[in-house]
Amino acid sequence: MRLVIASNNAHKVAEIKAILAPYYDEILSLKDAGITIDVVEDGETFEDNARKKAEEVLAVAHADAVLSDDSGLMVDALGGAPGVYSARYAGEGHDDAANNAKLLEAMQSVPDGARACRFVSAIALARRGRETLIRLGEVEGTLLRAPRGIDGFGYDPLFYYEPAGRTFAELSACEKNLVSHRKRGLEAVRAALEAERA
Ligand code: IMP
Repeated sequence: MRLVIASNNAHKVAEIKAILAPYYDEILSLKDAGITIDVVEDGETFEDNARKKAEEVLAVAHADAVLSDDSGLMVDALGGAPGVYSARYAGEGHDDAANNAKLLEAMQSVPDGARACRFVSAIALARRGRETLIRLGEVEGTLLRAPRGIDGFGYDPLFYYEPAGRTFAELSACEKNLVSHRKRGLEAVRAALEAERA
């Protein structure tokens, strides 16, 4: 059984391989599989985008299954924004620093007790002749008023994770990968595959 991961991000691919290796003989990134398709992520939810990506890649892949993820940050006080627009919150072509600056400004007048937020990841597993399997992973945190830490990417420096007493940008990649939204979504997919085997 061959699985293609709809990503070329080496960190994501390694993380996914580590969790799903027992279920597939071969796990390839998009690049390894020679796939260059560009999927437009225009869905209204993380689930929509993850499903679209996995199913469109499966349609052109020589593979039994394709796994994709779509993720972002949801801030309660902003009604769930930036949500599916996380990567382009400050506008197309802007970087993480611009997104973080816009978010801090939007949250300026929100008091300390109302700054709850969560990272969400939708993981979709598209398989030939079967319904696409979709699972969500979430991790809760508090949005800080200034960035802290230099590791990670995206909104990590603003995301204070209470159980560790640090932001995600102050955790090592290993520490973050143990508790991340992606890890939780992947574990839920693993549990579903395990249940199918039983
Ligand atoms: P993607 O779906 O993994 O490409 O993530 C979309 C956007 O969500 C990224 O560009 C980041 O802005 C944000 N994001 C997703 N996951 C994380 C994370 O683990 N840390 C920080 N930001 C994240």
